[in-house]
Amino acid sequence: MKIAVIGAGWAGLAAAVELAAQGHQLTVLEASPHLGGRARGFEHKDLLLDNGQHILLGAYRQTLRLMKLIGLKEADILLRLPLTLETPGHLKLNTPALPAPLHLLAGLISAQGLSLYERLATLGFFAKLRVRNFKLVQDQTVAELLSKQPARTVKLLWEPLCIAALNTPASIASAQVFLNVLRDSFSHNRADSDMLLPRHDLSALFPQAAARYVTEHGGNILSGTTAKSLHLQHNGVVIDGEHFDKVVCAVAPHQLAALLQEIPEAATALHMVSKFSYQPIATVYLQYPSTFTLPSPMLGLNGGDAQWVFDRGTLCGQHGLIAASISTVGEYQKQSHDQVAIAVHQQLQALISNLPALQWHQVIVEKRATFACVAGLQRPANLTAHPHLFLAGDYTAGDYPATLEGAVRSGNNCARLLCKSSA
Ligand SMILES: Cc1cc2nc3c(=O)[nH]c(=O)nc-3n(C[C@H](O)[C@H](O)[C@H](O)COP(=O)(O)OP(=O)(O)OC[C@H]3O[C@@H](n4cnc5c(N)ncnc54)[C@H](O)[C@@H]3O)c2cc1C
Repeated sequence: MKIAVIGAGWAGLAAAVELAAQGHQLTVLEASPHLGGRARGFEHKDLLLDNGQHILLGAYRQTLRLMKLIGLKEADILLRLPLTLETPGHLKLNTPALPAPLHLLAGLISAQGLSLYERLATLGFFAKLRVRNFKLVQDQTVAELLSKQPARTVKLLWEPLCIAALNTPASIASAQVFLNVLRDSFSHNRADSDMLLPRHDLSALFPQAAARYVTEHGGNILSGTTAKSLHLQHNGVVIDGEHFDKVVCAVAPHQLAALLQEIPEAATALHMVSKFSYQPIATVYLQYPSTFTLPSPMLGLNGGDAQWVFDRGTLCGQHGLIAASISTVGEYQKQSHDQVAIAVHQQLQALISNLPALQWHQVIVEKRATFACVAGLQRPANLTAHPHLFLAGDYTAGDYPATLEGAVRSGNNCARLLCKSSA
């Protein structure tokens, strides 16, 4: 079939790779000159930075599978570390090399910074979730789910985990989606909870190799090309005057209306998406002298807006460069980029004595980094009411919040449904 994919984020590229592998004729249209959408690299001061520091999990099975399919070797592109949650002076949780869920059990028992009562309460809570197979009868907020947990465990462990996983505050976040992530990370294999930290910029991690794969399989990748008009017909789709047999629309949820407004078969999806709200993420790059390193590649931060810092020297060979992540909403949104950078530098100063002087900084705020993954959220399906129009993206219905794995799974699922529909 002749298939168009609109949008070369991770969802669109995942769909394109799967469809190219099946021998279909692909055209990928991407509005931006760069591939990767919300997870892409860009050049700054002769360095390749990312629009946002990302972290992947061992449980990202579909992402890891596709990376392998397109010829990437995990060890070349990702640093795999056993799950460690460390906020110096507050919490340290390491997971030893034991089968799941014993690794978590041992990690919780030996966690530093939690009292015996708090550790036992966490273990009991986790055991209950396992018995229920991490399923709720009805969705509720993460705060409601945690209402009987000790306040310190909520603050030190659960809330940071919820924000890291869903980029949504526990007070409104979906407990069921949070439990899906816990289930996939902690209940099967020990390696599922590993943290996978990128060793290259995000474009090199998947988008560029995916585009190469599609091209090698006879497809076209048209970057800097915005799809402007889309008309559905009984035998296919016309995009800007060109006929295709099927289309996968893989744009971000807030970009959907611009393309599908006039299409009655997309009305249900557009209605659901119109109810979405969005959460920001800021990434603060701080350049120190090249000899500076963090005590570990990733550390938790406390007492300020930033939650995590990453050592890009250890990870990507960008010596002395630190990337800090600020997830969800916060006071930082009212400040200038200079003020935000200085505040994160000061947060780091509180953690690291003799922190050297800052050489330069760069702050990137993605205002719509992710959809707010709120309790009870209705998300559109990959299938629409028209047999030739499919939707892919991190926002479509699925187990995951807005993540790379959510985007890739959605792209894979679209490709599978599309092939099935024409069989
Ligand atoms: C700062 C930040 C940090 C994050 N951290 C993490 C993390 O640590 N771990 C994790 O798993 N996830 C993280 N995420 C989430 C993850 O990046 C997203 O869930 C994922 O990239 C979404 O991919 P997508 O393909 O669904 O959408 P997008 O990446 O938004 O792709 C949509 C694409 O469609 C294109 N497009 C739109 N309209 C048109 C048109 N008319 N014609 C042609 N092209 C069009 C856009 O330009 C874009 O490239 C983070 C996101 C951000 C922003």
